[in-house]
Amino acid sequence: MKLIQNFINGEFVATGSRFNKHSPLTNQVIAEVAEATRDEVDAAVKAAHAALKGPWGKMSFAERTEMLHALANEINHRFDEFLAAECADTGKPHSLAAHIDIPRGAANFKIFADVVKNVPTEFFETATPDGKGAINYGYRTPVGVVGVICPWNLPLLLMTWKVGPALACGNTVVVKPSEETPQTATLLGEVMNKVGIPKGVYNVVHGFGPNSAGEFVTTHPLVNAITFTGETRTGEIIMKAAAKGSRPVSLEMGGKNAAIVFADCDFDAAIEGTLRSAFVNCGQVCLGTERVYVERPIFDKFVAALKKGAEALKPGIPEDKSTGIGPLISKEHQRKVLSYYQIAAAAGATVVTGGGIFDMPGELKEGCWVQPTIWTGLPETARVIKEEIFGPCCHISPFDTEQEVLAKANDNEYGLATAIWTLNVSRAHRVAHQMEVGLAWVNSWFLRDLRTPFGGAKQSGIGREGGVHSLEFYTEQKNVCLKL
Ligand code: NAD
Repeated sequence: MKLIQNFINGEFVATGSRFNKHSPLTNQVIAEVAEATRDEVDAAVKAAHAALKGPWGKMSFAERTEMLHALANEINHRFDEFLAAECADTGKPHSLAAHIDIPRGAANFKIFADVVKNVPTEFFETATPDGKGAINYGYRTPVGVVGVICPWNLPLLLMTWKVGPALACGNTVVVKPSEETPQTATLLGEVMNKVGIPKGVYNVVHGFGPNSAGEFVTTHPLVNAITFTGETRTGEIIMKAAAKGSRPVSLEMGGKNAAIVFADCDFDAAIEGTLRSAFVNCGQVCLGTERVYVERPIFDKFVAALKKGAEALKPGIPEDKSTGIGPLISKEHQRKVLSYYQIAAAAGATVVTGGGIFDMPGELKEGCWVQPTIWTGLPETARVIKEEIFGPCCHISPFDTEQEVLAKANDNEYGLATAIWTLNVSRAHRVAHQMEVGLAWVNSWFLRDLRTPFGGAKQSGIGREGGVHSLEFYTEQKNVCLKL
């Protein structure tokens, strides 16, 4: 049986305590994972602390940048291994992970190294009574040891999205991958050693949340800042942990995102975009659409076209090029998503398509499959319209006016993202400005420029990462004032 180990101070570390990693495709055990105890987490944090004071802290920015570029190149060099590991852990199609997870995961190291290189700091001249004046300038230093707590939906991509800028800014990290997706973070340890990243700069500890590695990292007094992606209720616990020692947090959390489709949209583009935003990665994307509002004149046509697209998604194994949809991450998550399918039916939803599980052949029968599902006919108060499901499903409602749809779309405790489909330029801007979200896409979805701010409003997050905004979190800015 494959053993996935912790990576501490440049070494792979096994422990006595083990947990099983199951395949989402078959539910069979594919690996054992060595769970870090409080002692391993302590060793990882101390190694990260020592590396800050050691070679990493002393390295010139140019050398650091060169290493981060080498890291990205080496991930791409071992692309197939990363792809296999990510797809084994998540069950997602190769076509998806080869296009998004792995290349973008590698690119995060290059892009953030370049961002850090190109961001200036402030400069002010100050008048003084003696007429000679003073100058002020900003000077950035690393924030220190960063605890990085990751989810399972885009494991490598969302982890390097944090580790990339953290290392570019000169920090060291202790990463706690999701217990569901331990492999690529561990594999990255090999790459770190290969390119010569000093020991202790990048550490990985495996385990769960409460009373396990997640809690041990977030409560460790030598962790200087915590960056987290995951559920809102976990984020709240982490924020409380970070209060001890007044440590900064960056929280990227849940969503219940609305798409708004106006009758004047490019219909085919809106269908193509909504098929992706609702069903890609089996609906397990924080930015995904679970509420669709469609202007009444095109409502029936839209529902019919989305149904046709959803029904064309063929479930299958990652390696099969014709696979359109993989399984959910775990049996536990499958139970959760199916419970919402039942809640929708019990509330009287019209099930346009789906609503159950795929009947898969052979060993795939035991996998975590669910059908892409579309509902109509529920009131705005329905639980499947209010709560994040994180599965391949959406509810579609008709609307008549812009004001009405804005009120409905904004009536949610989350505020992560939206997709607005219209060819009326004024309306596009007007609606985007009024949506209570961190990310508003117009005539697109998940189109990312990493220089732009990323994060959620309301209960979807605290803080922004991306471009210069990542620097705000991963560095401490001091003002140097010099009297002339
Ligand atoms: P989760 O909150 O269950 O787990 C995330 C991580 O937190 C895991 O590594 C877990 O072990 C750890 N954890 C759990 N309890 C902890 C505790 N008490 N202390 C410390 N660590 C703890 O989330 P998930 O199920 O892995 O991911 C799905 C969620 O993530 C969805 O809600 C989704 O919307 C959200 N998400 C948000 C974004 C974003 O950018 N806003 C991106 C991806 C996913």
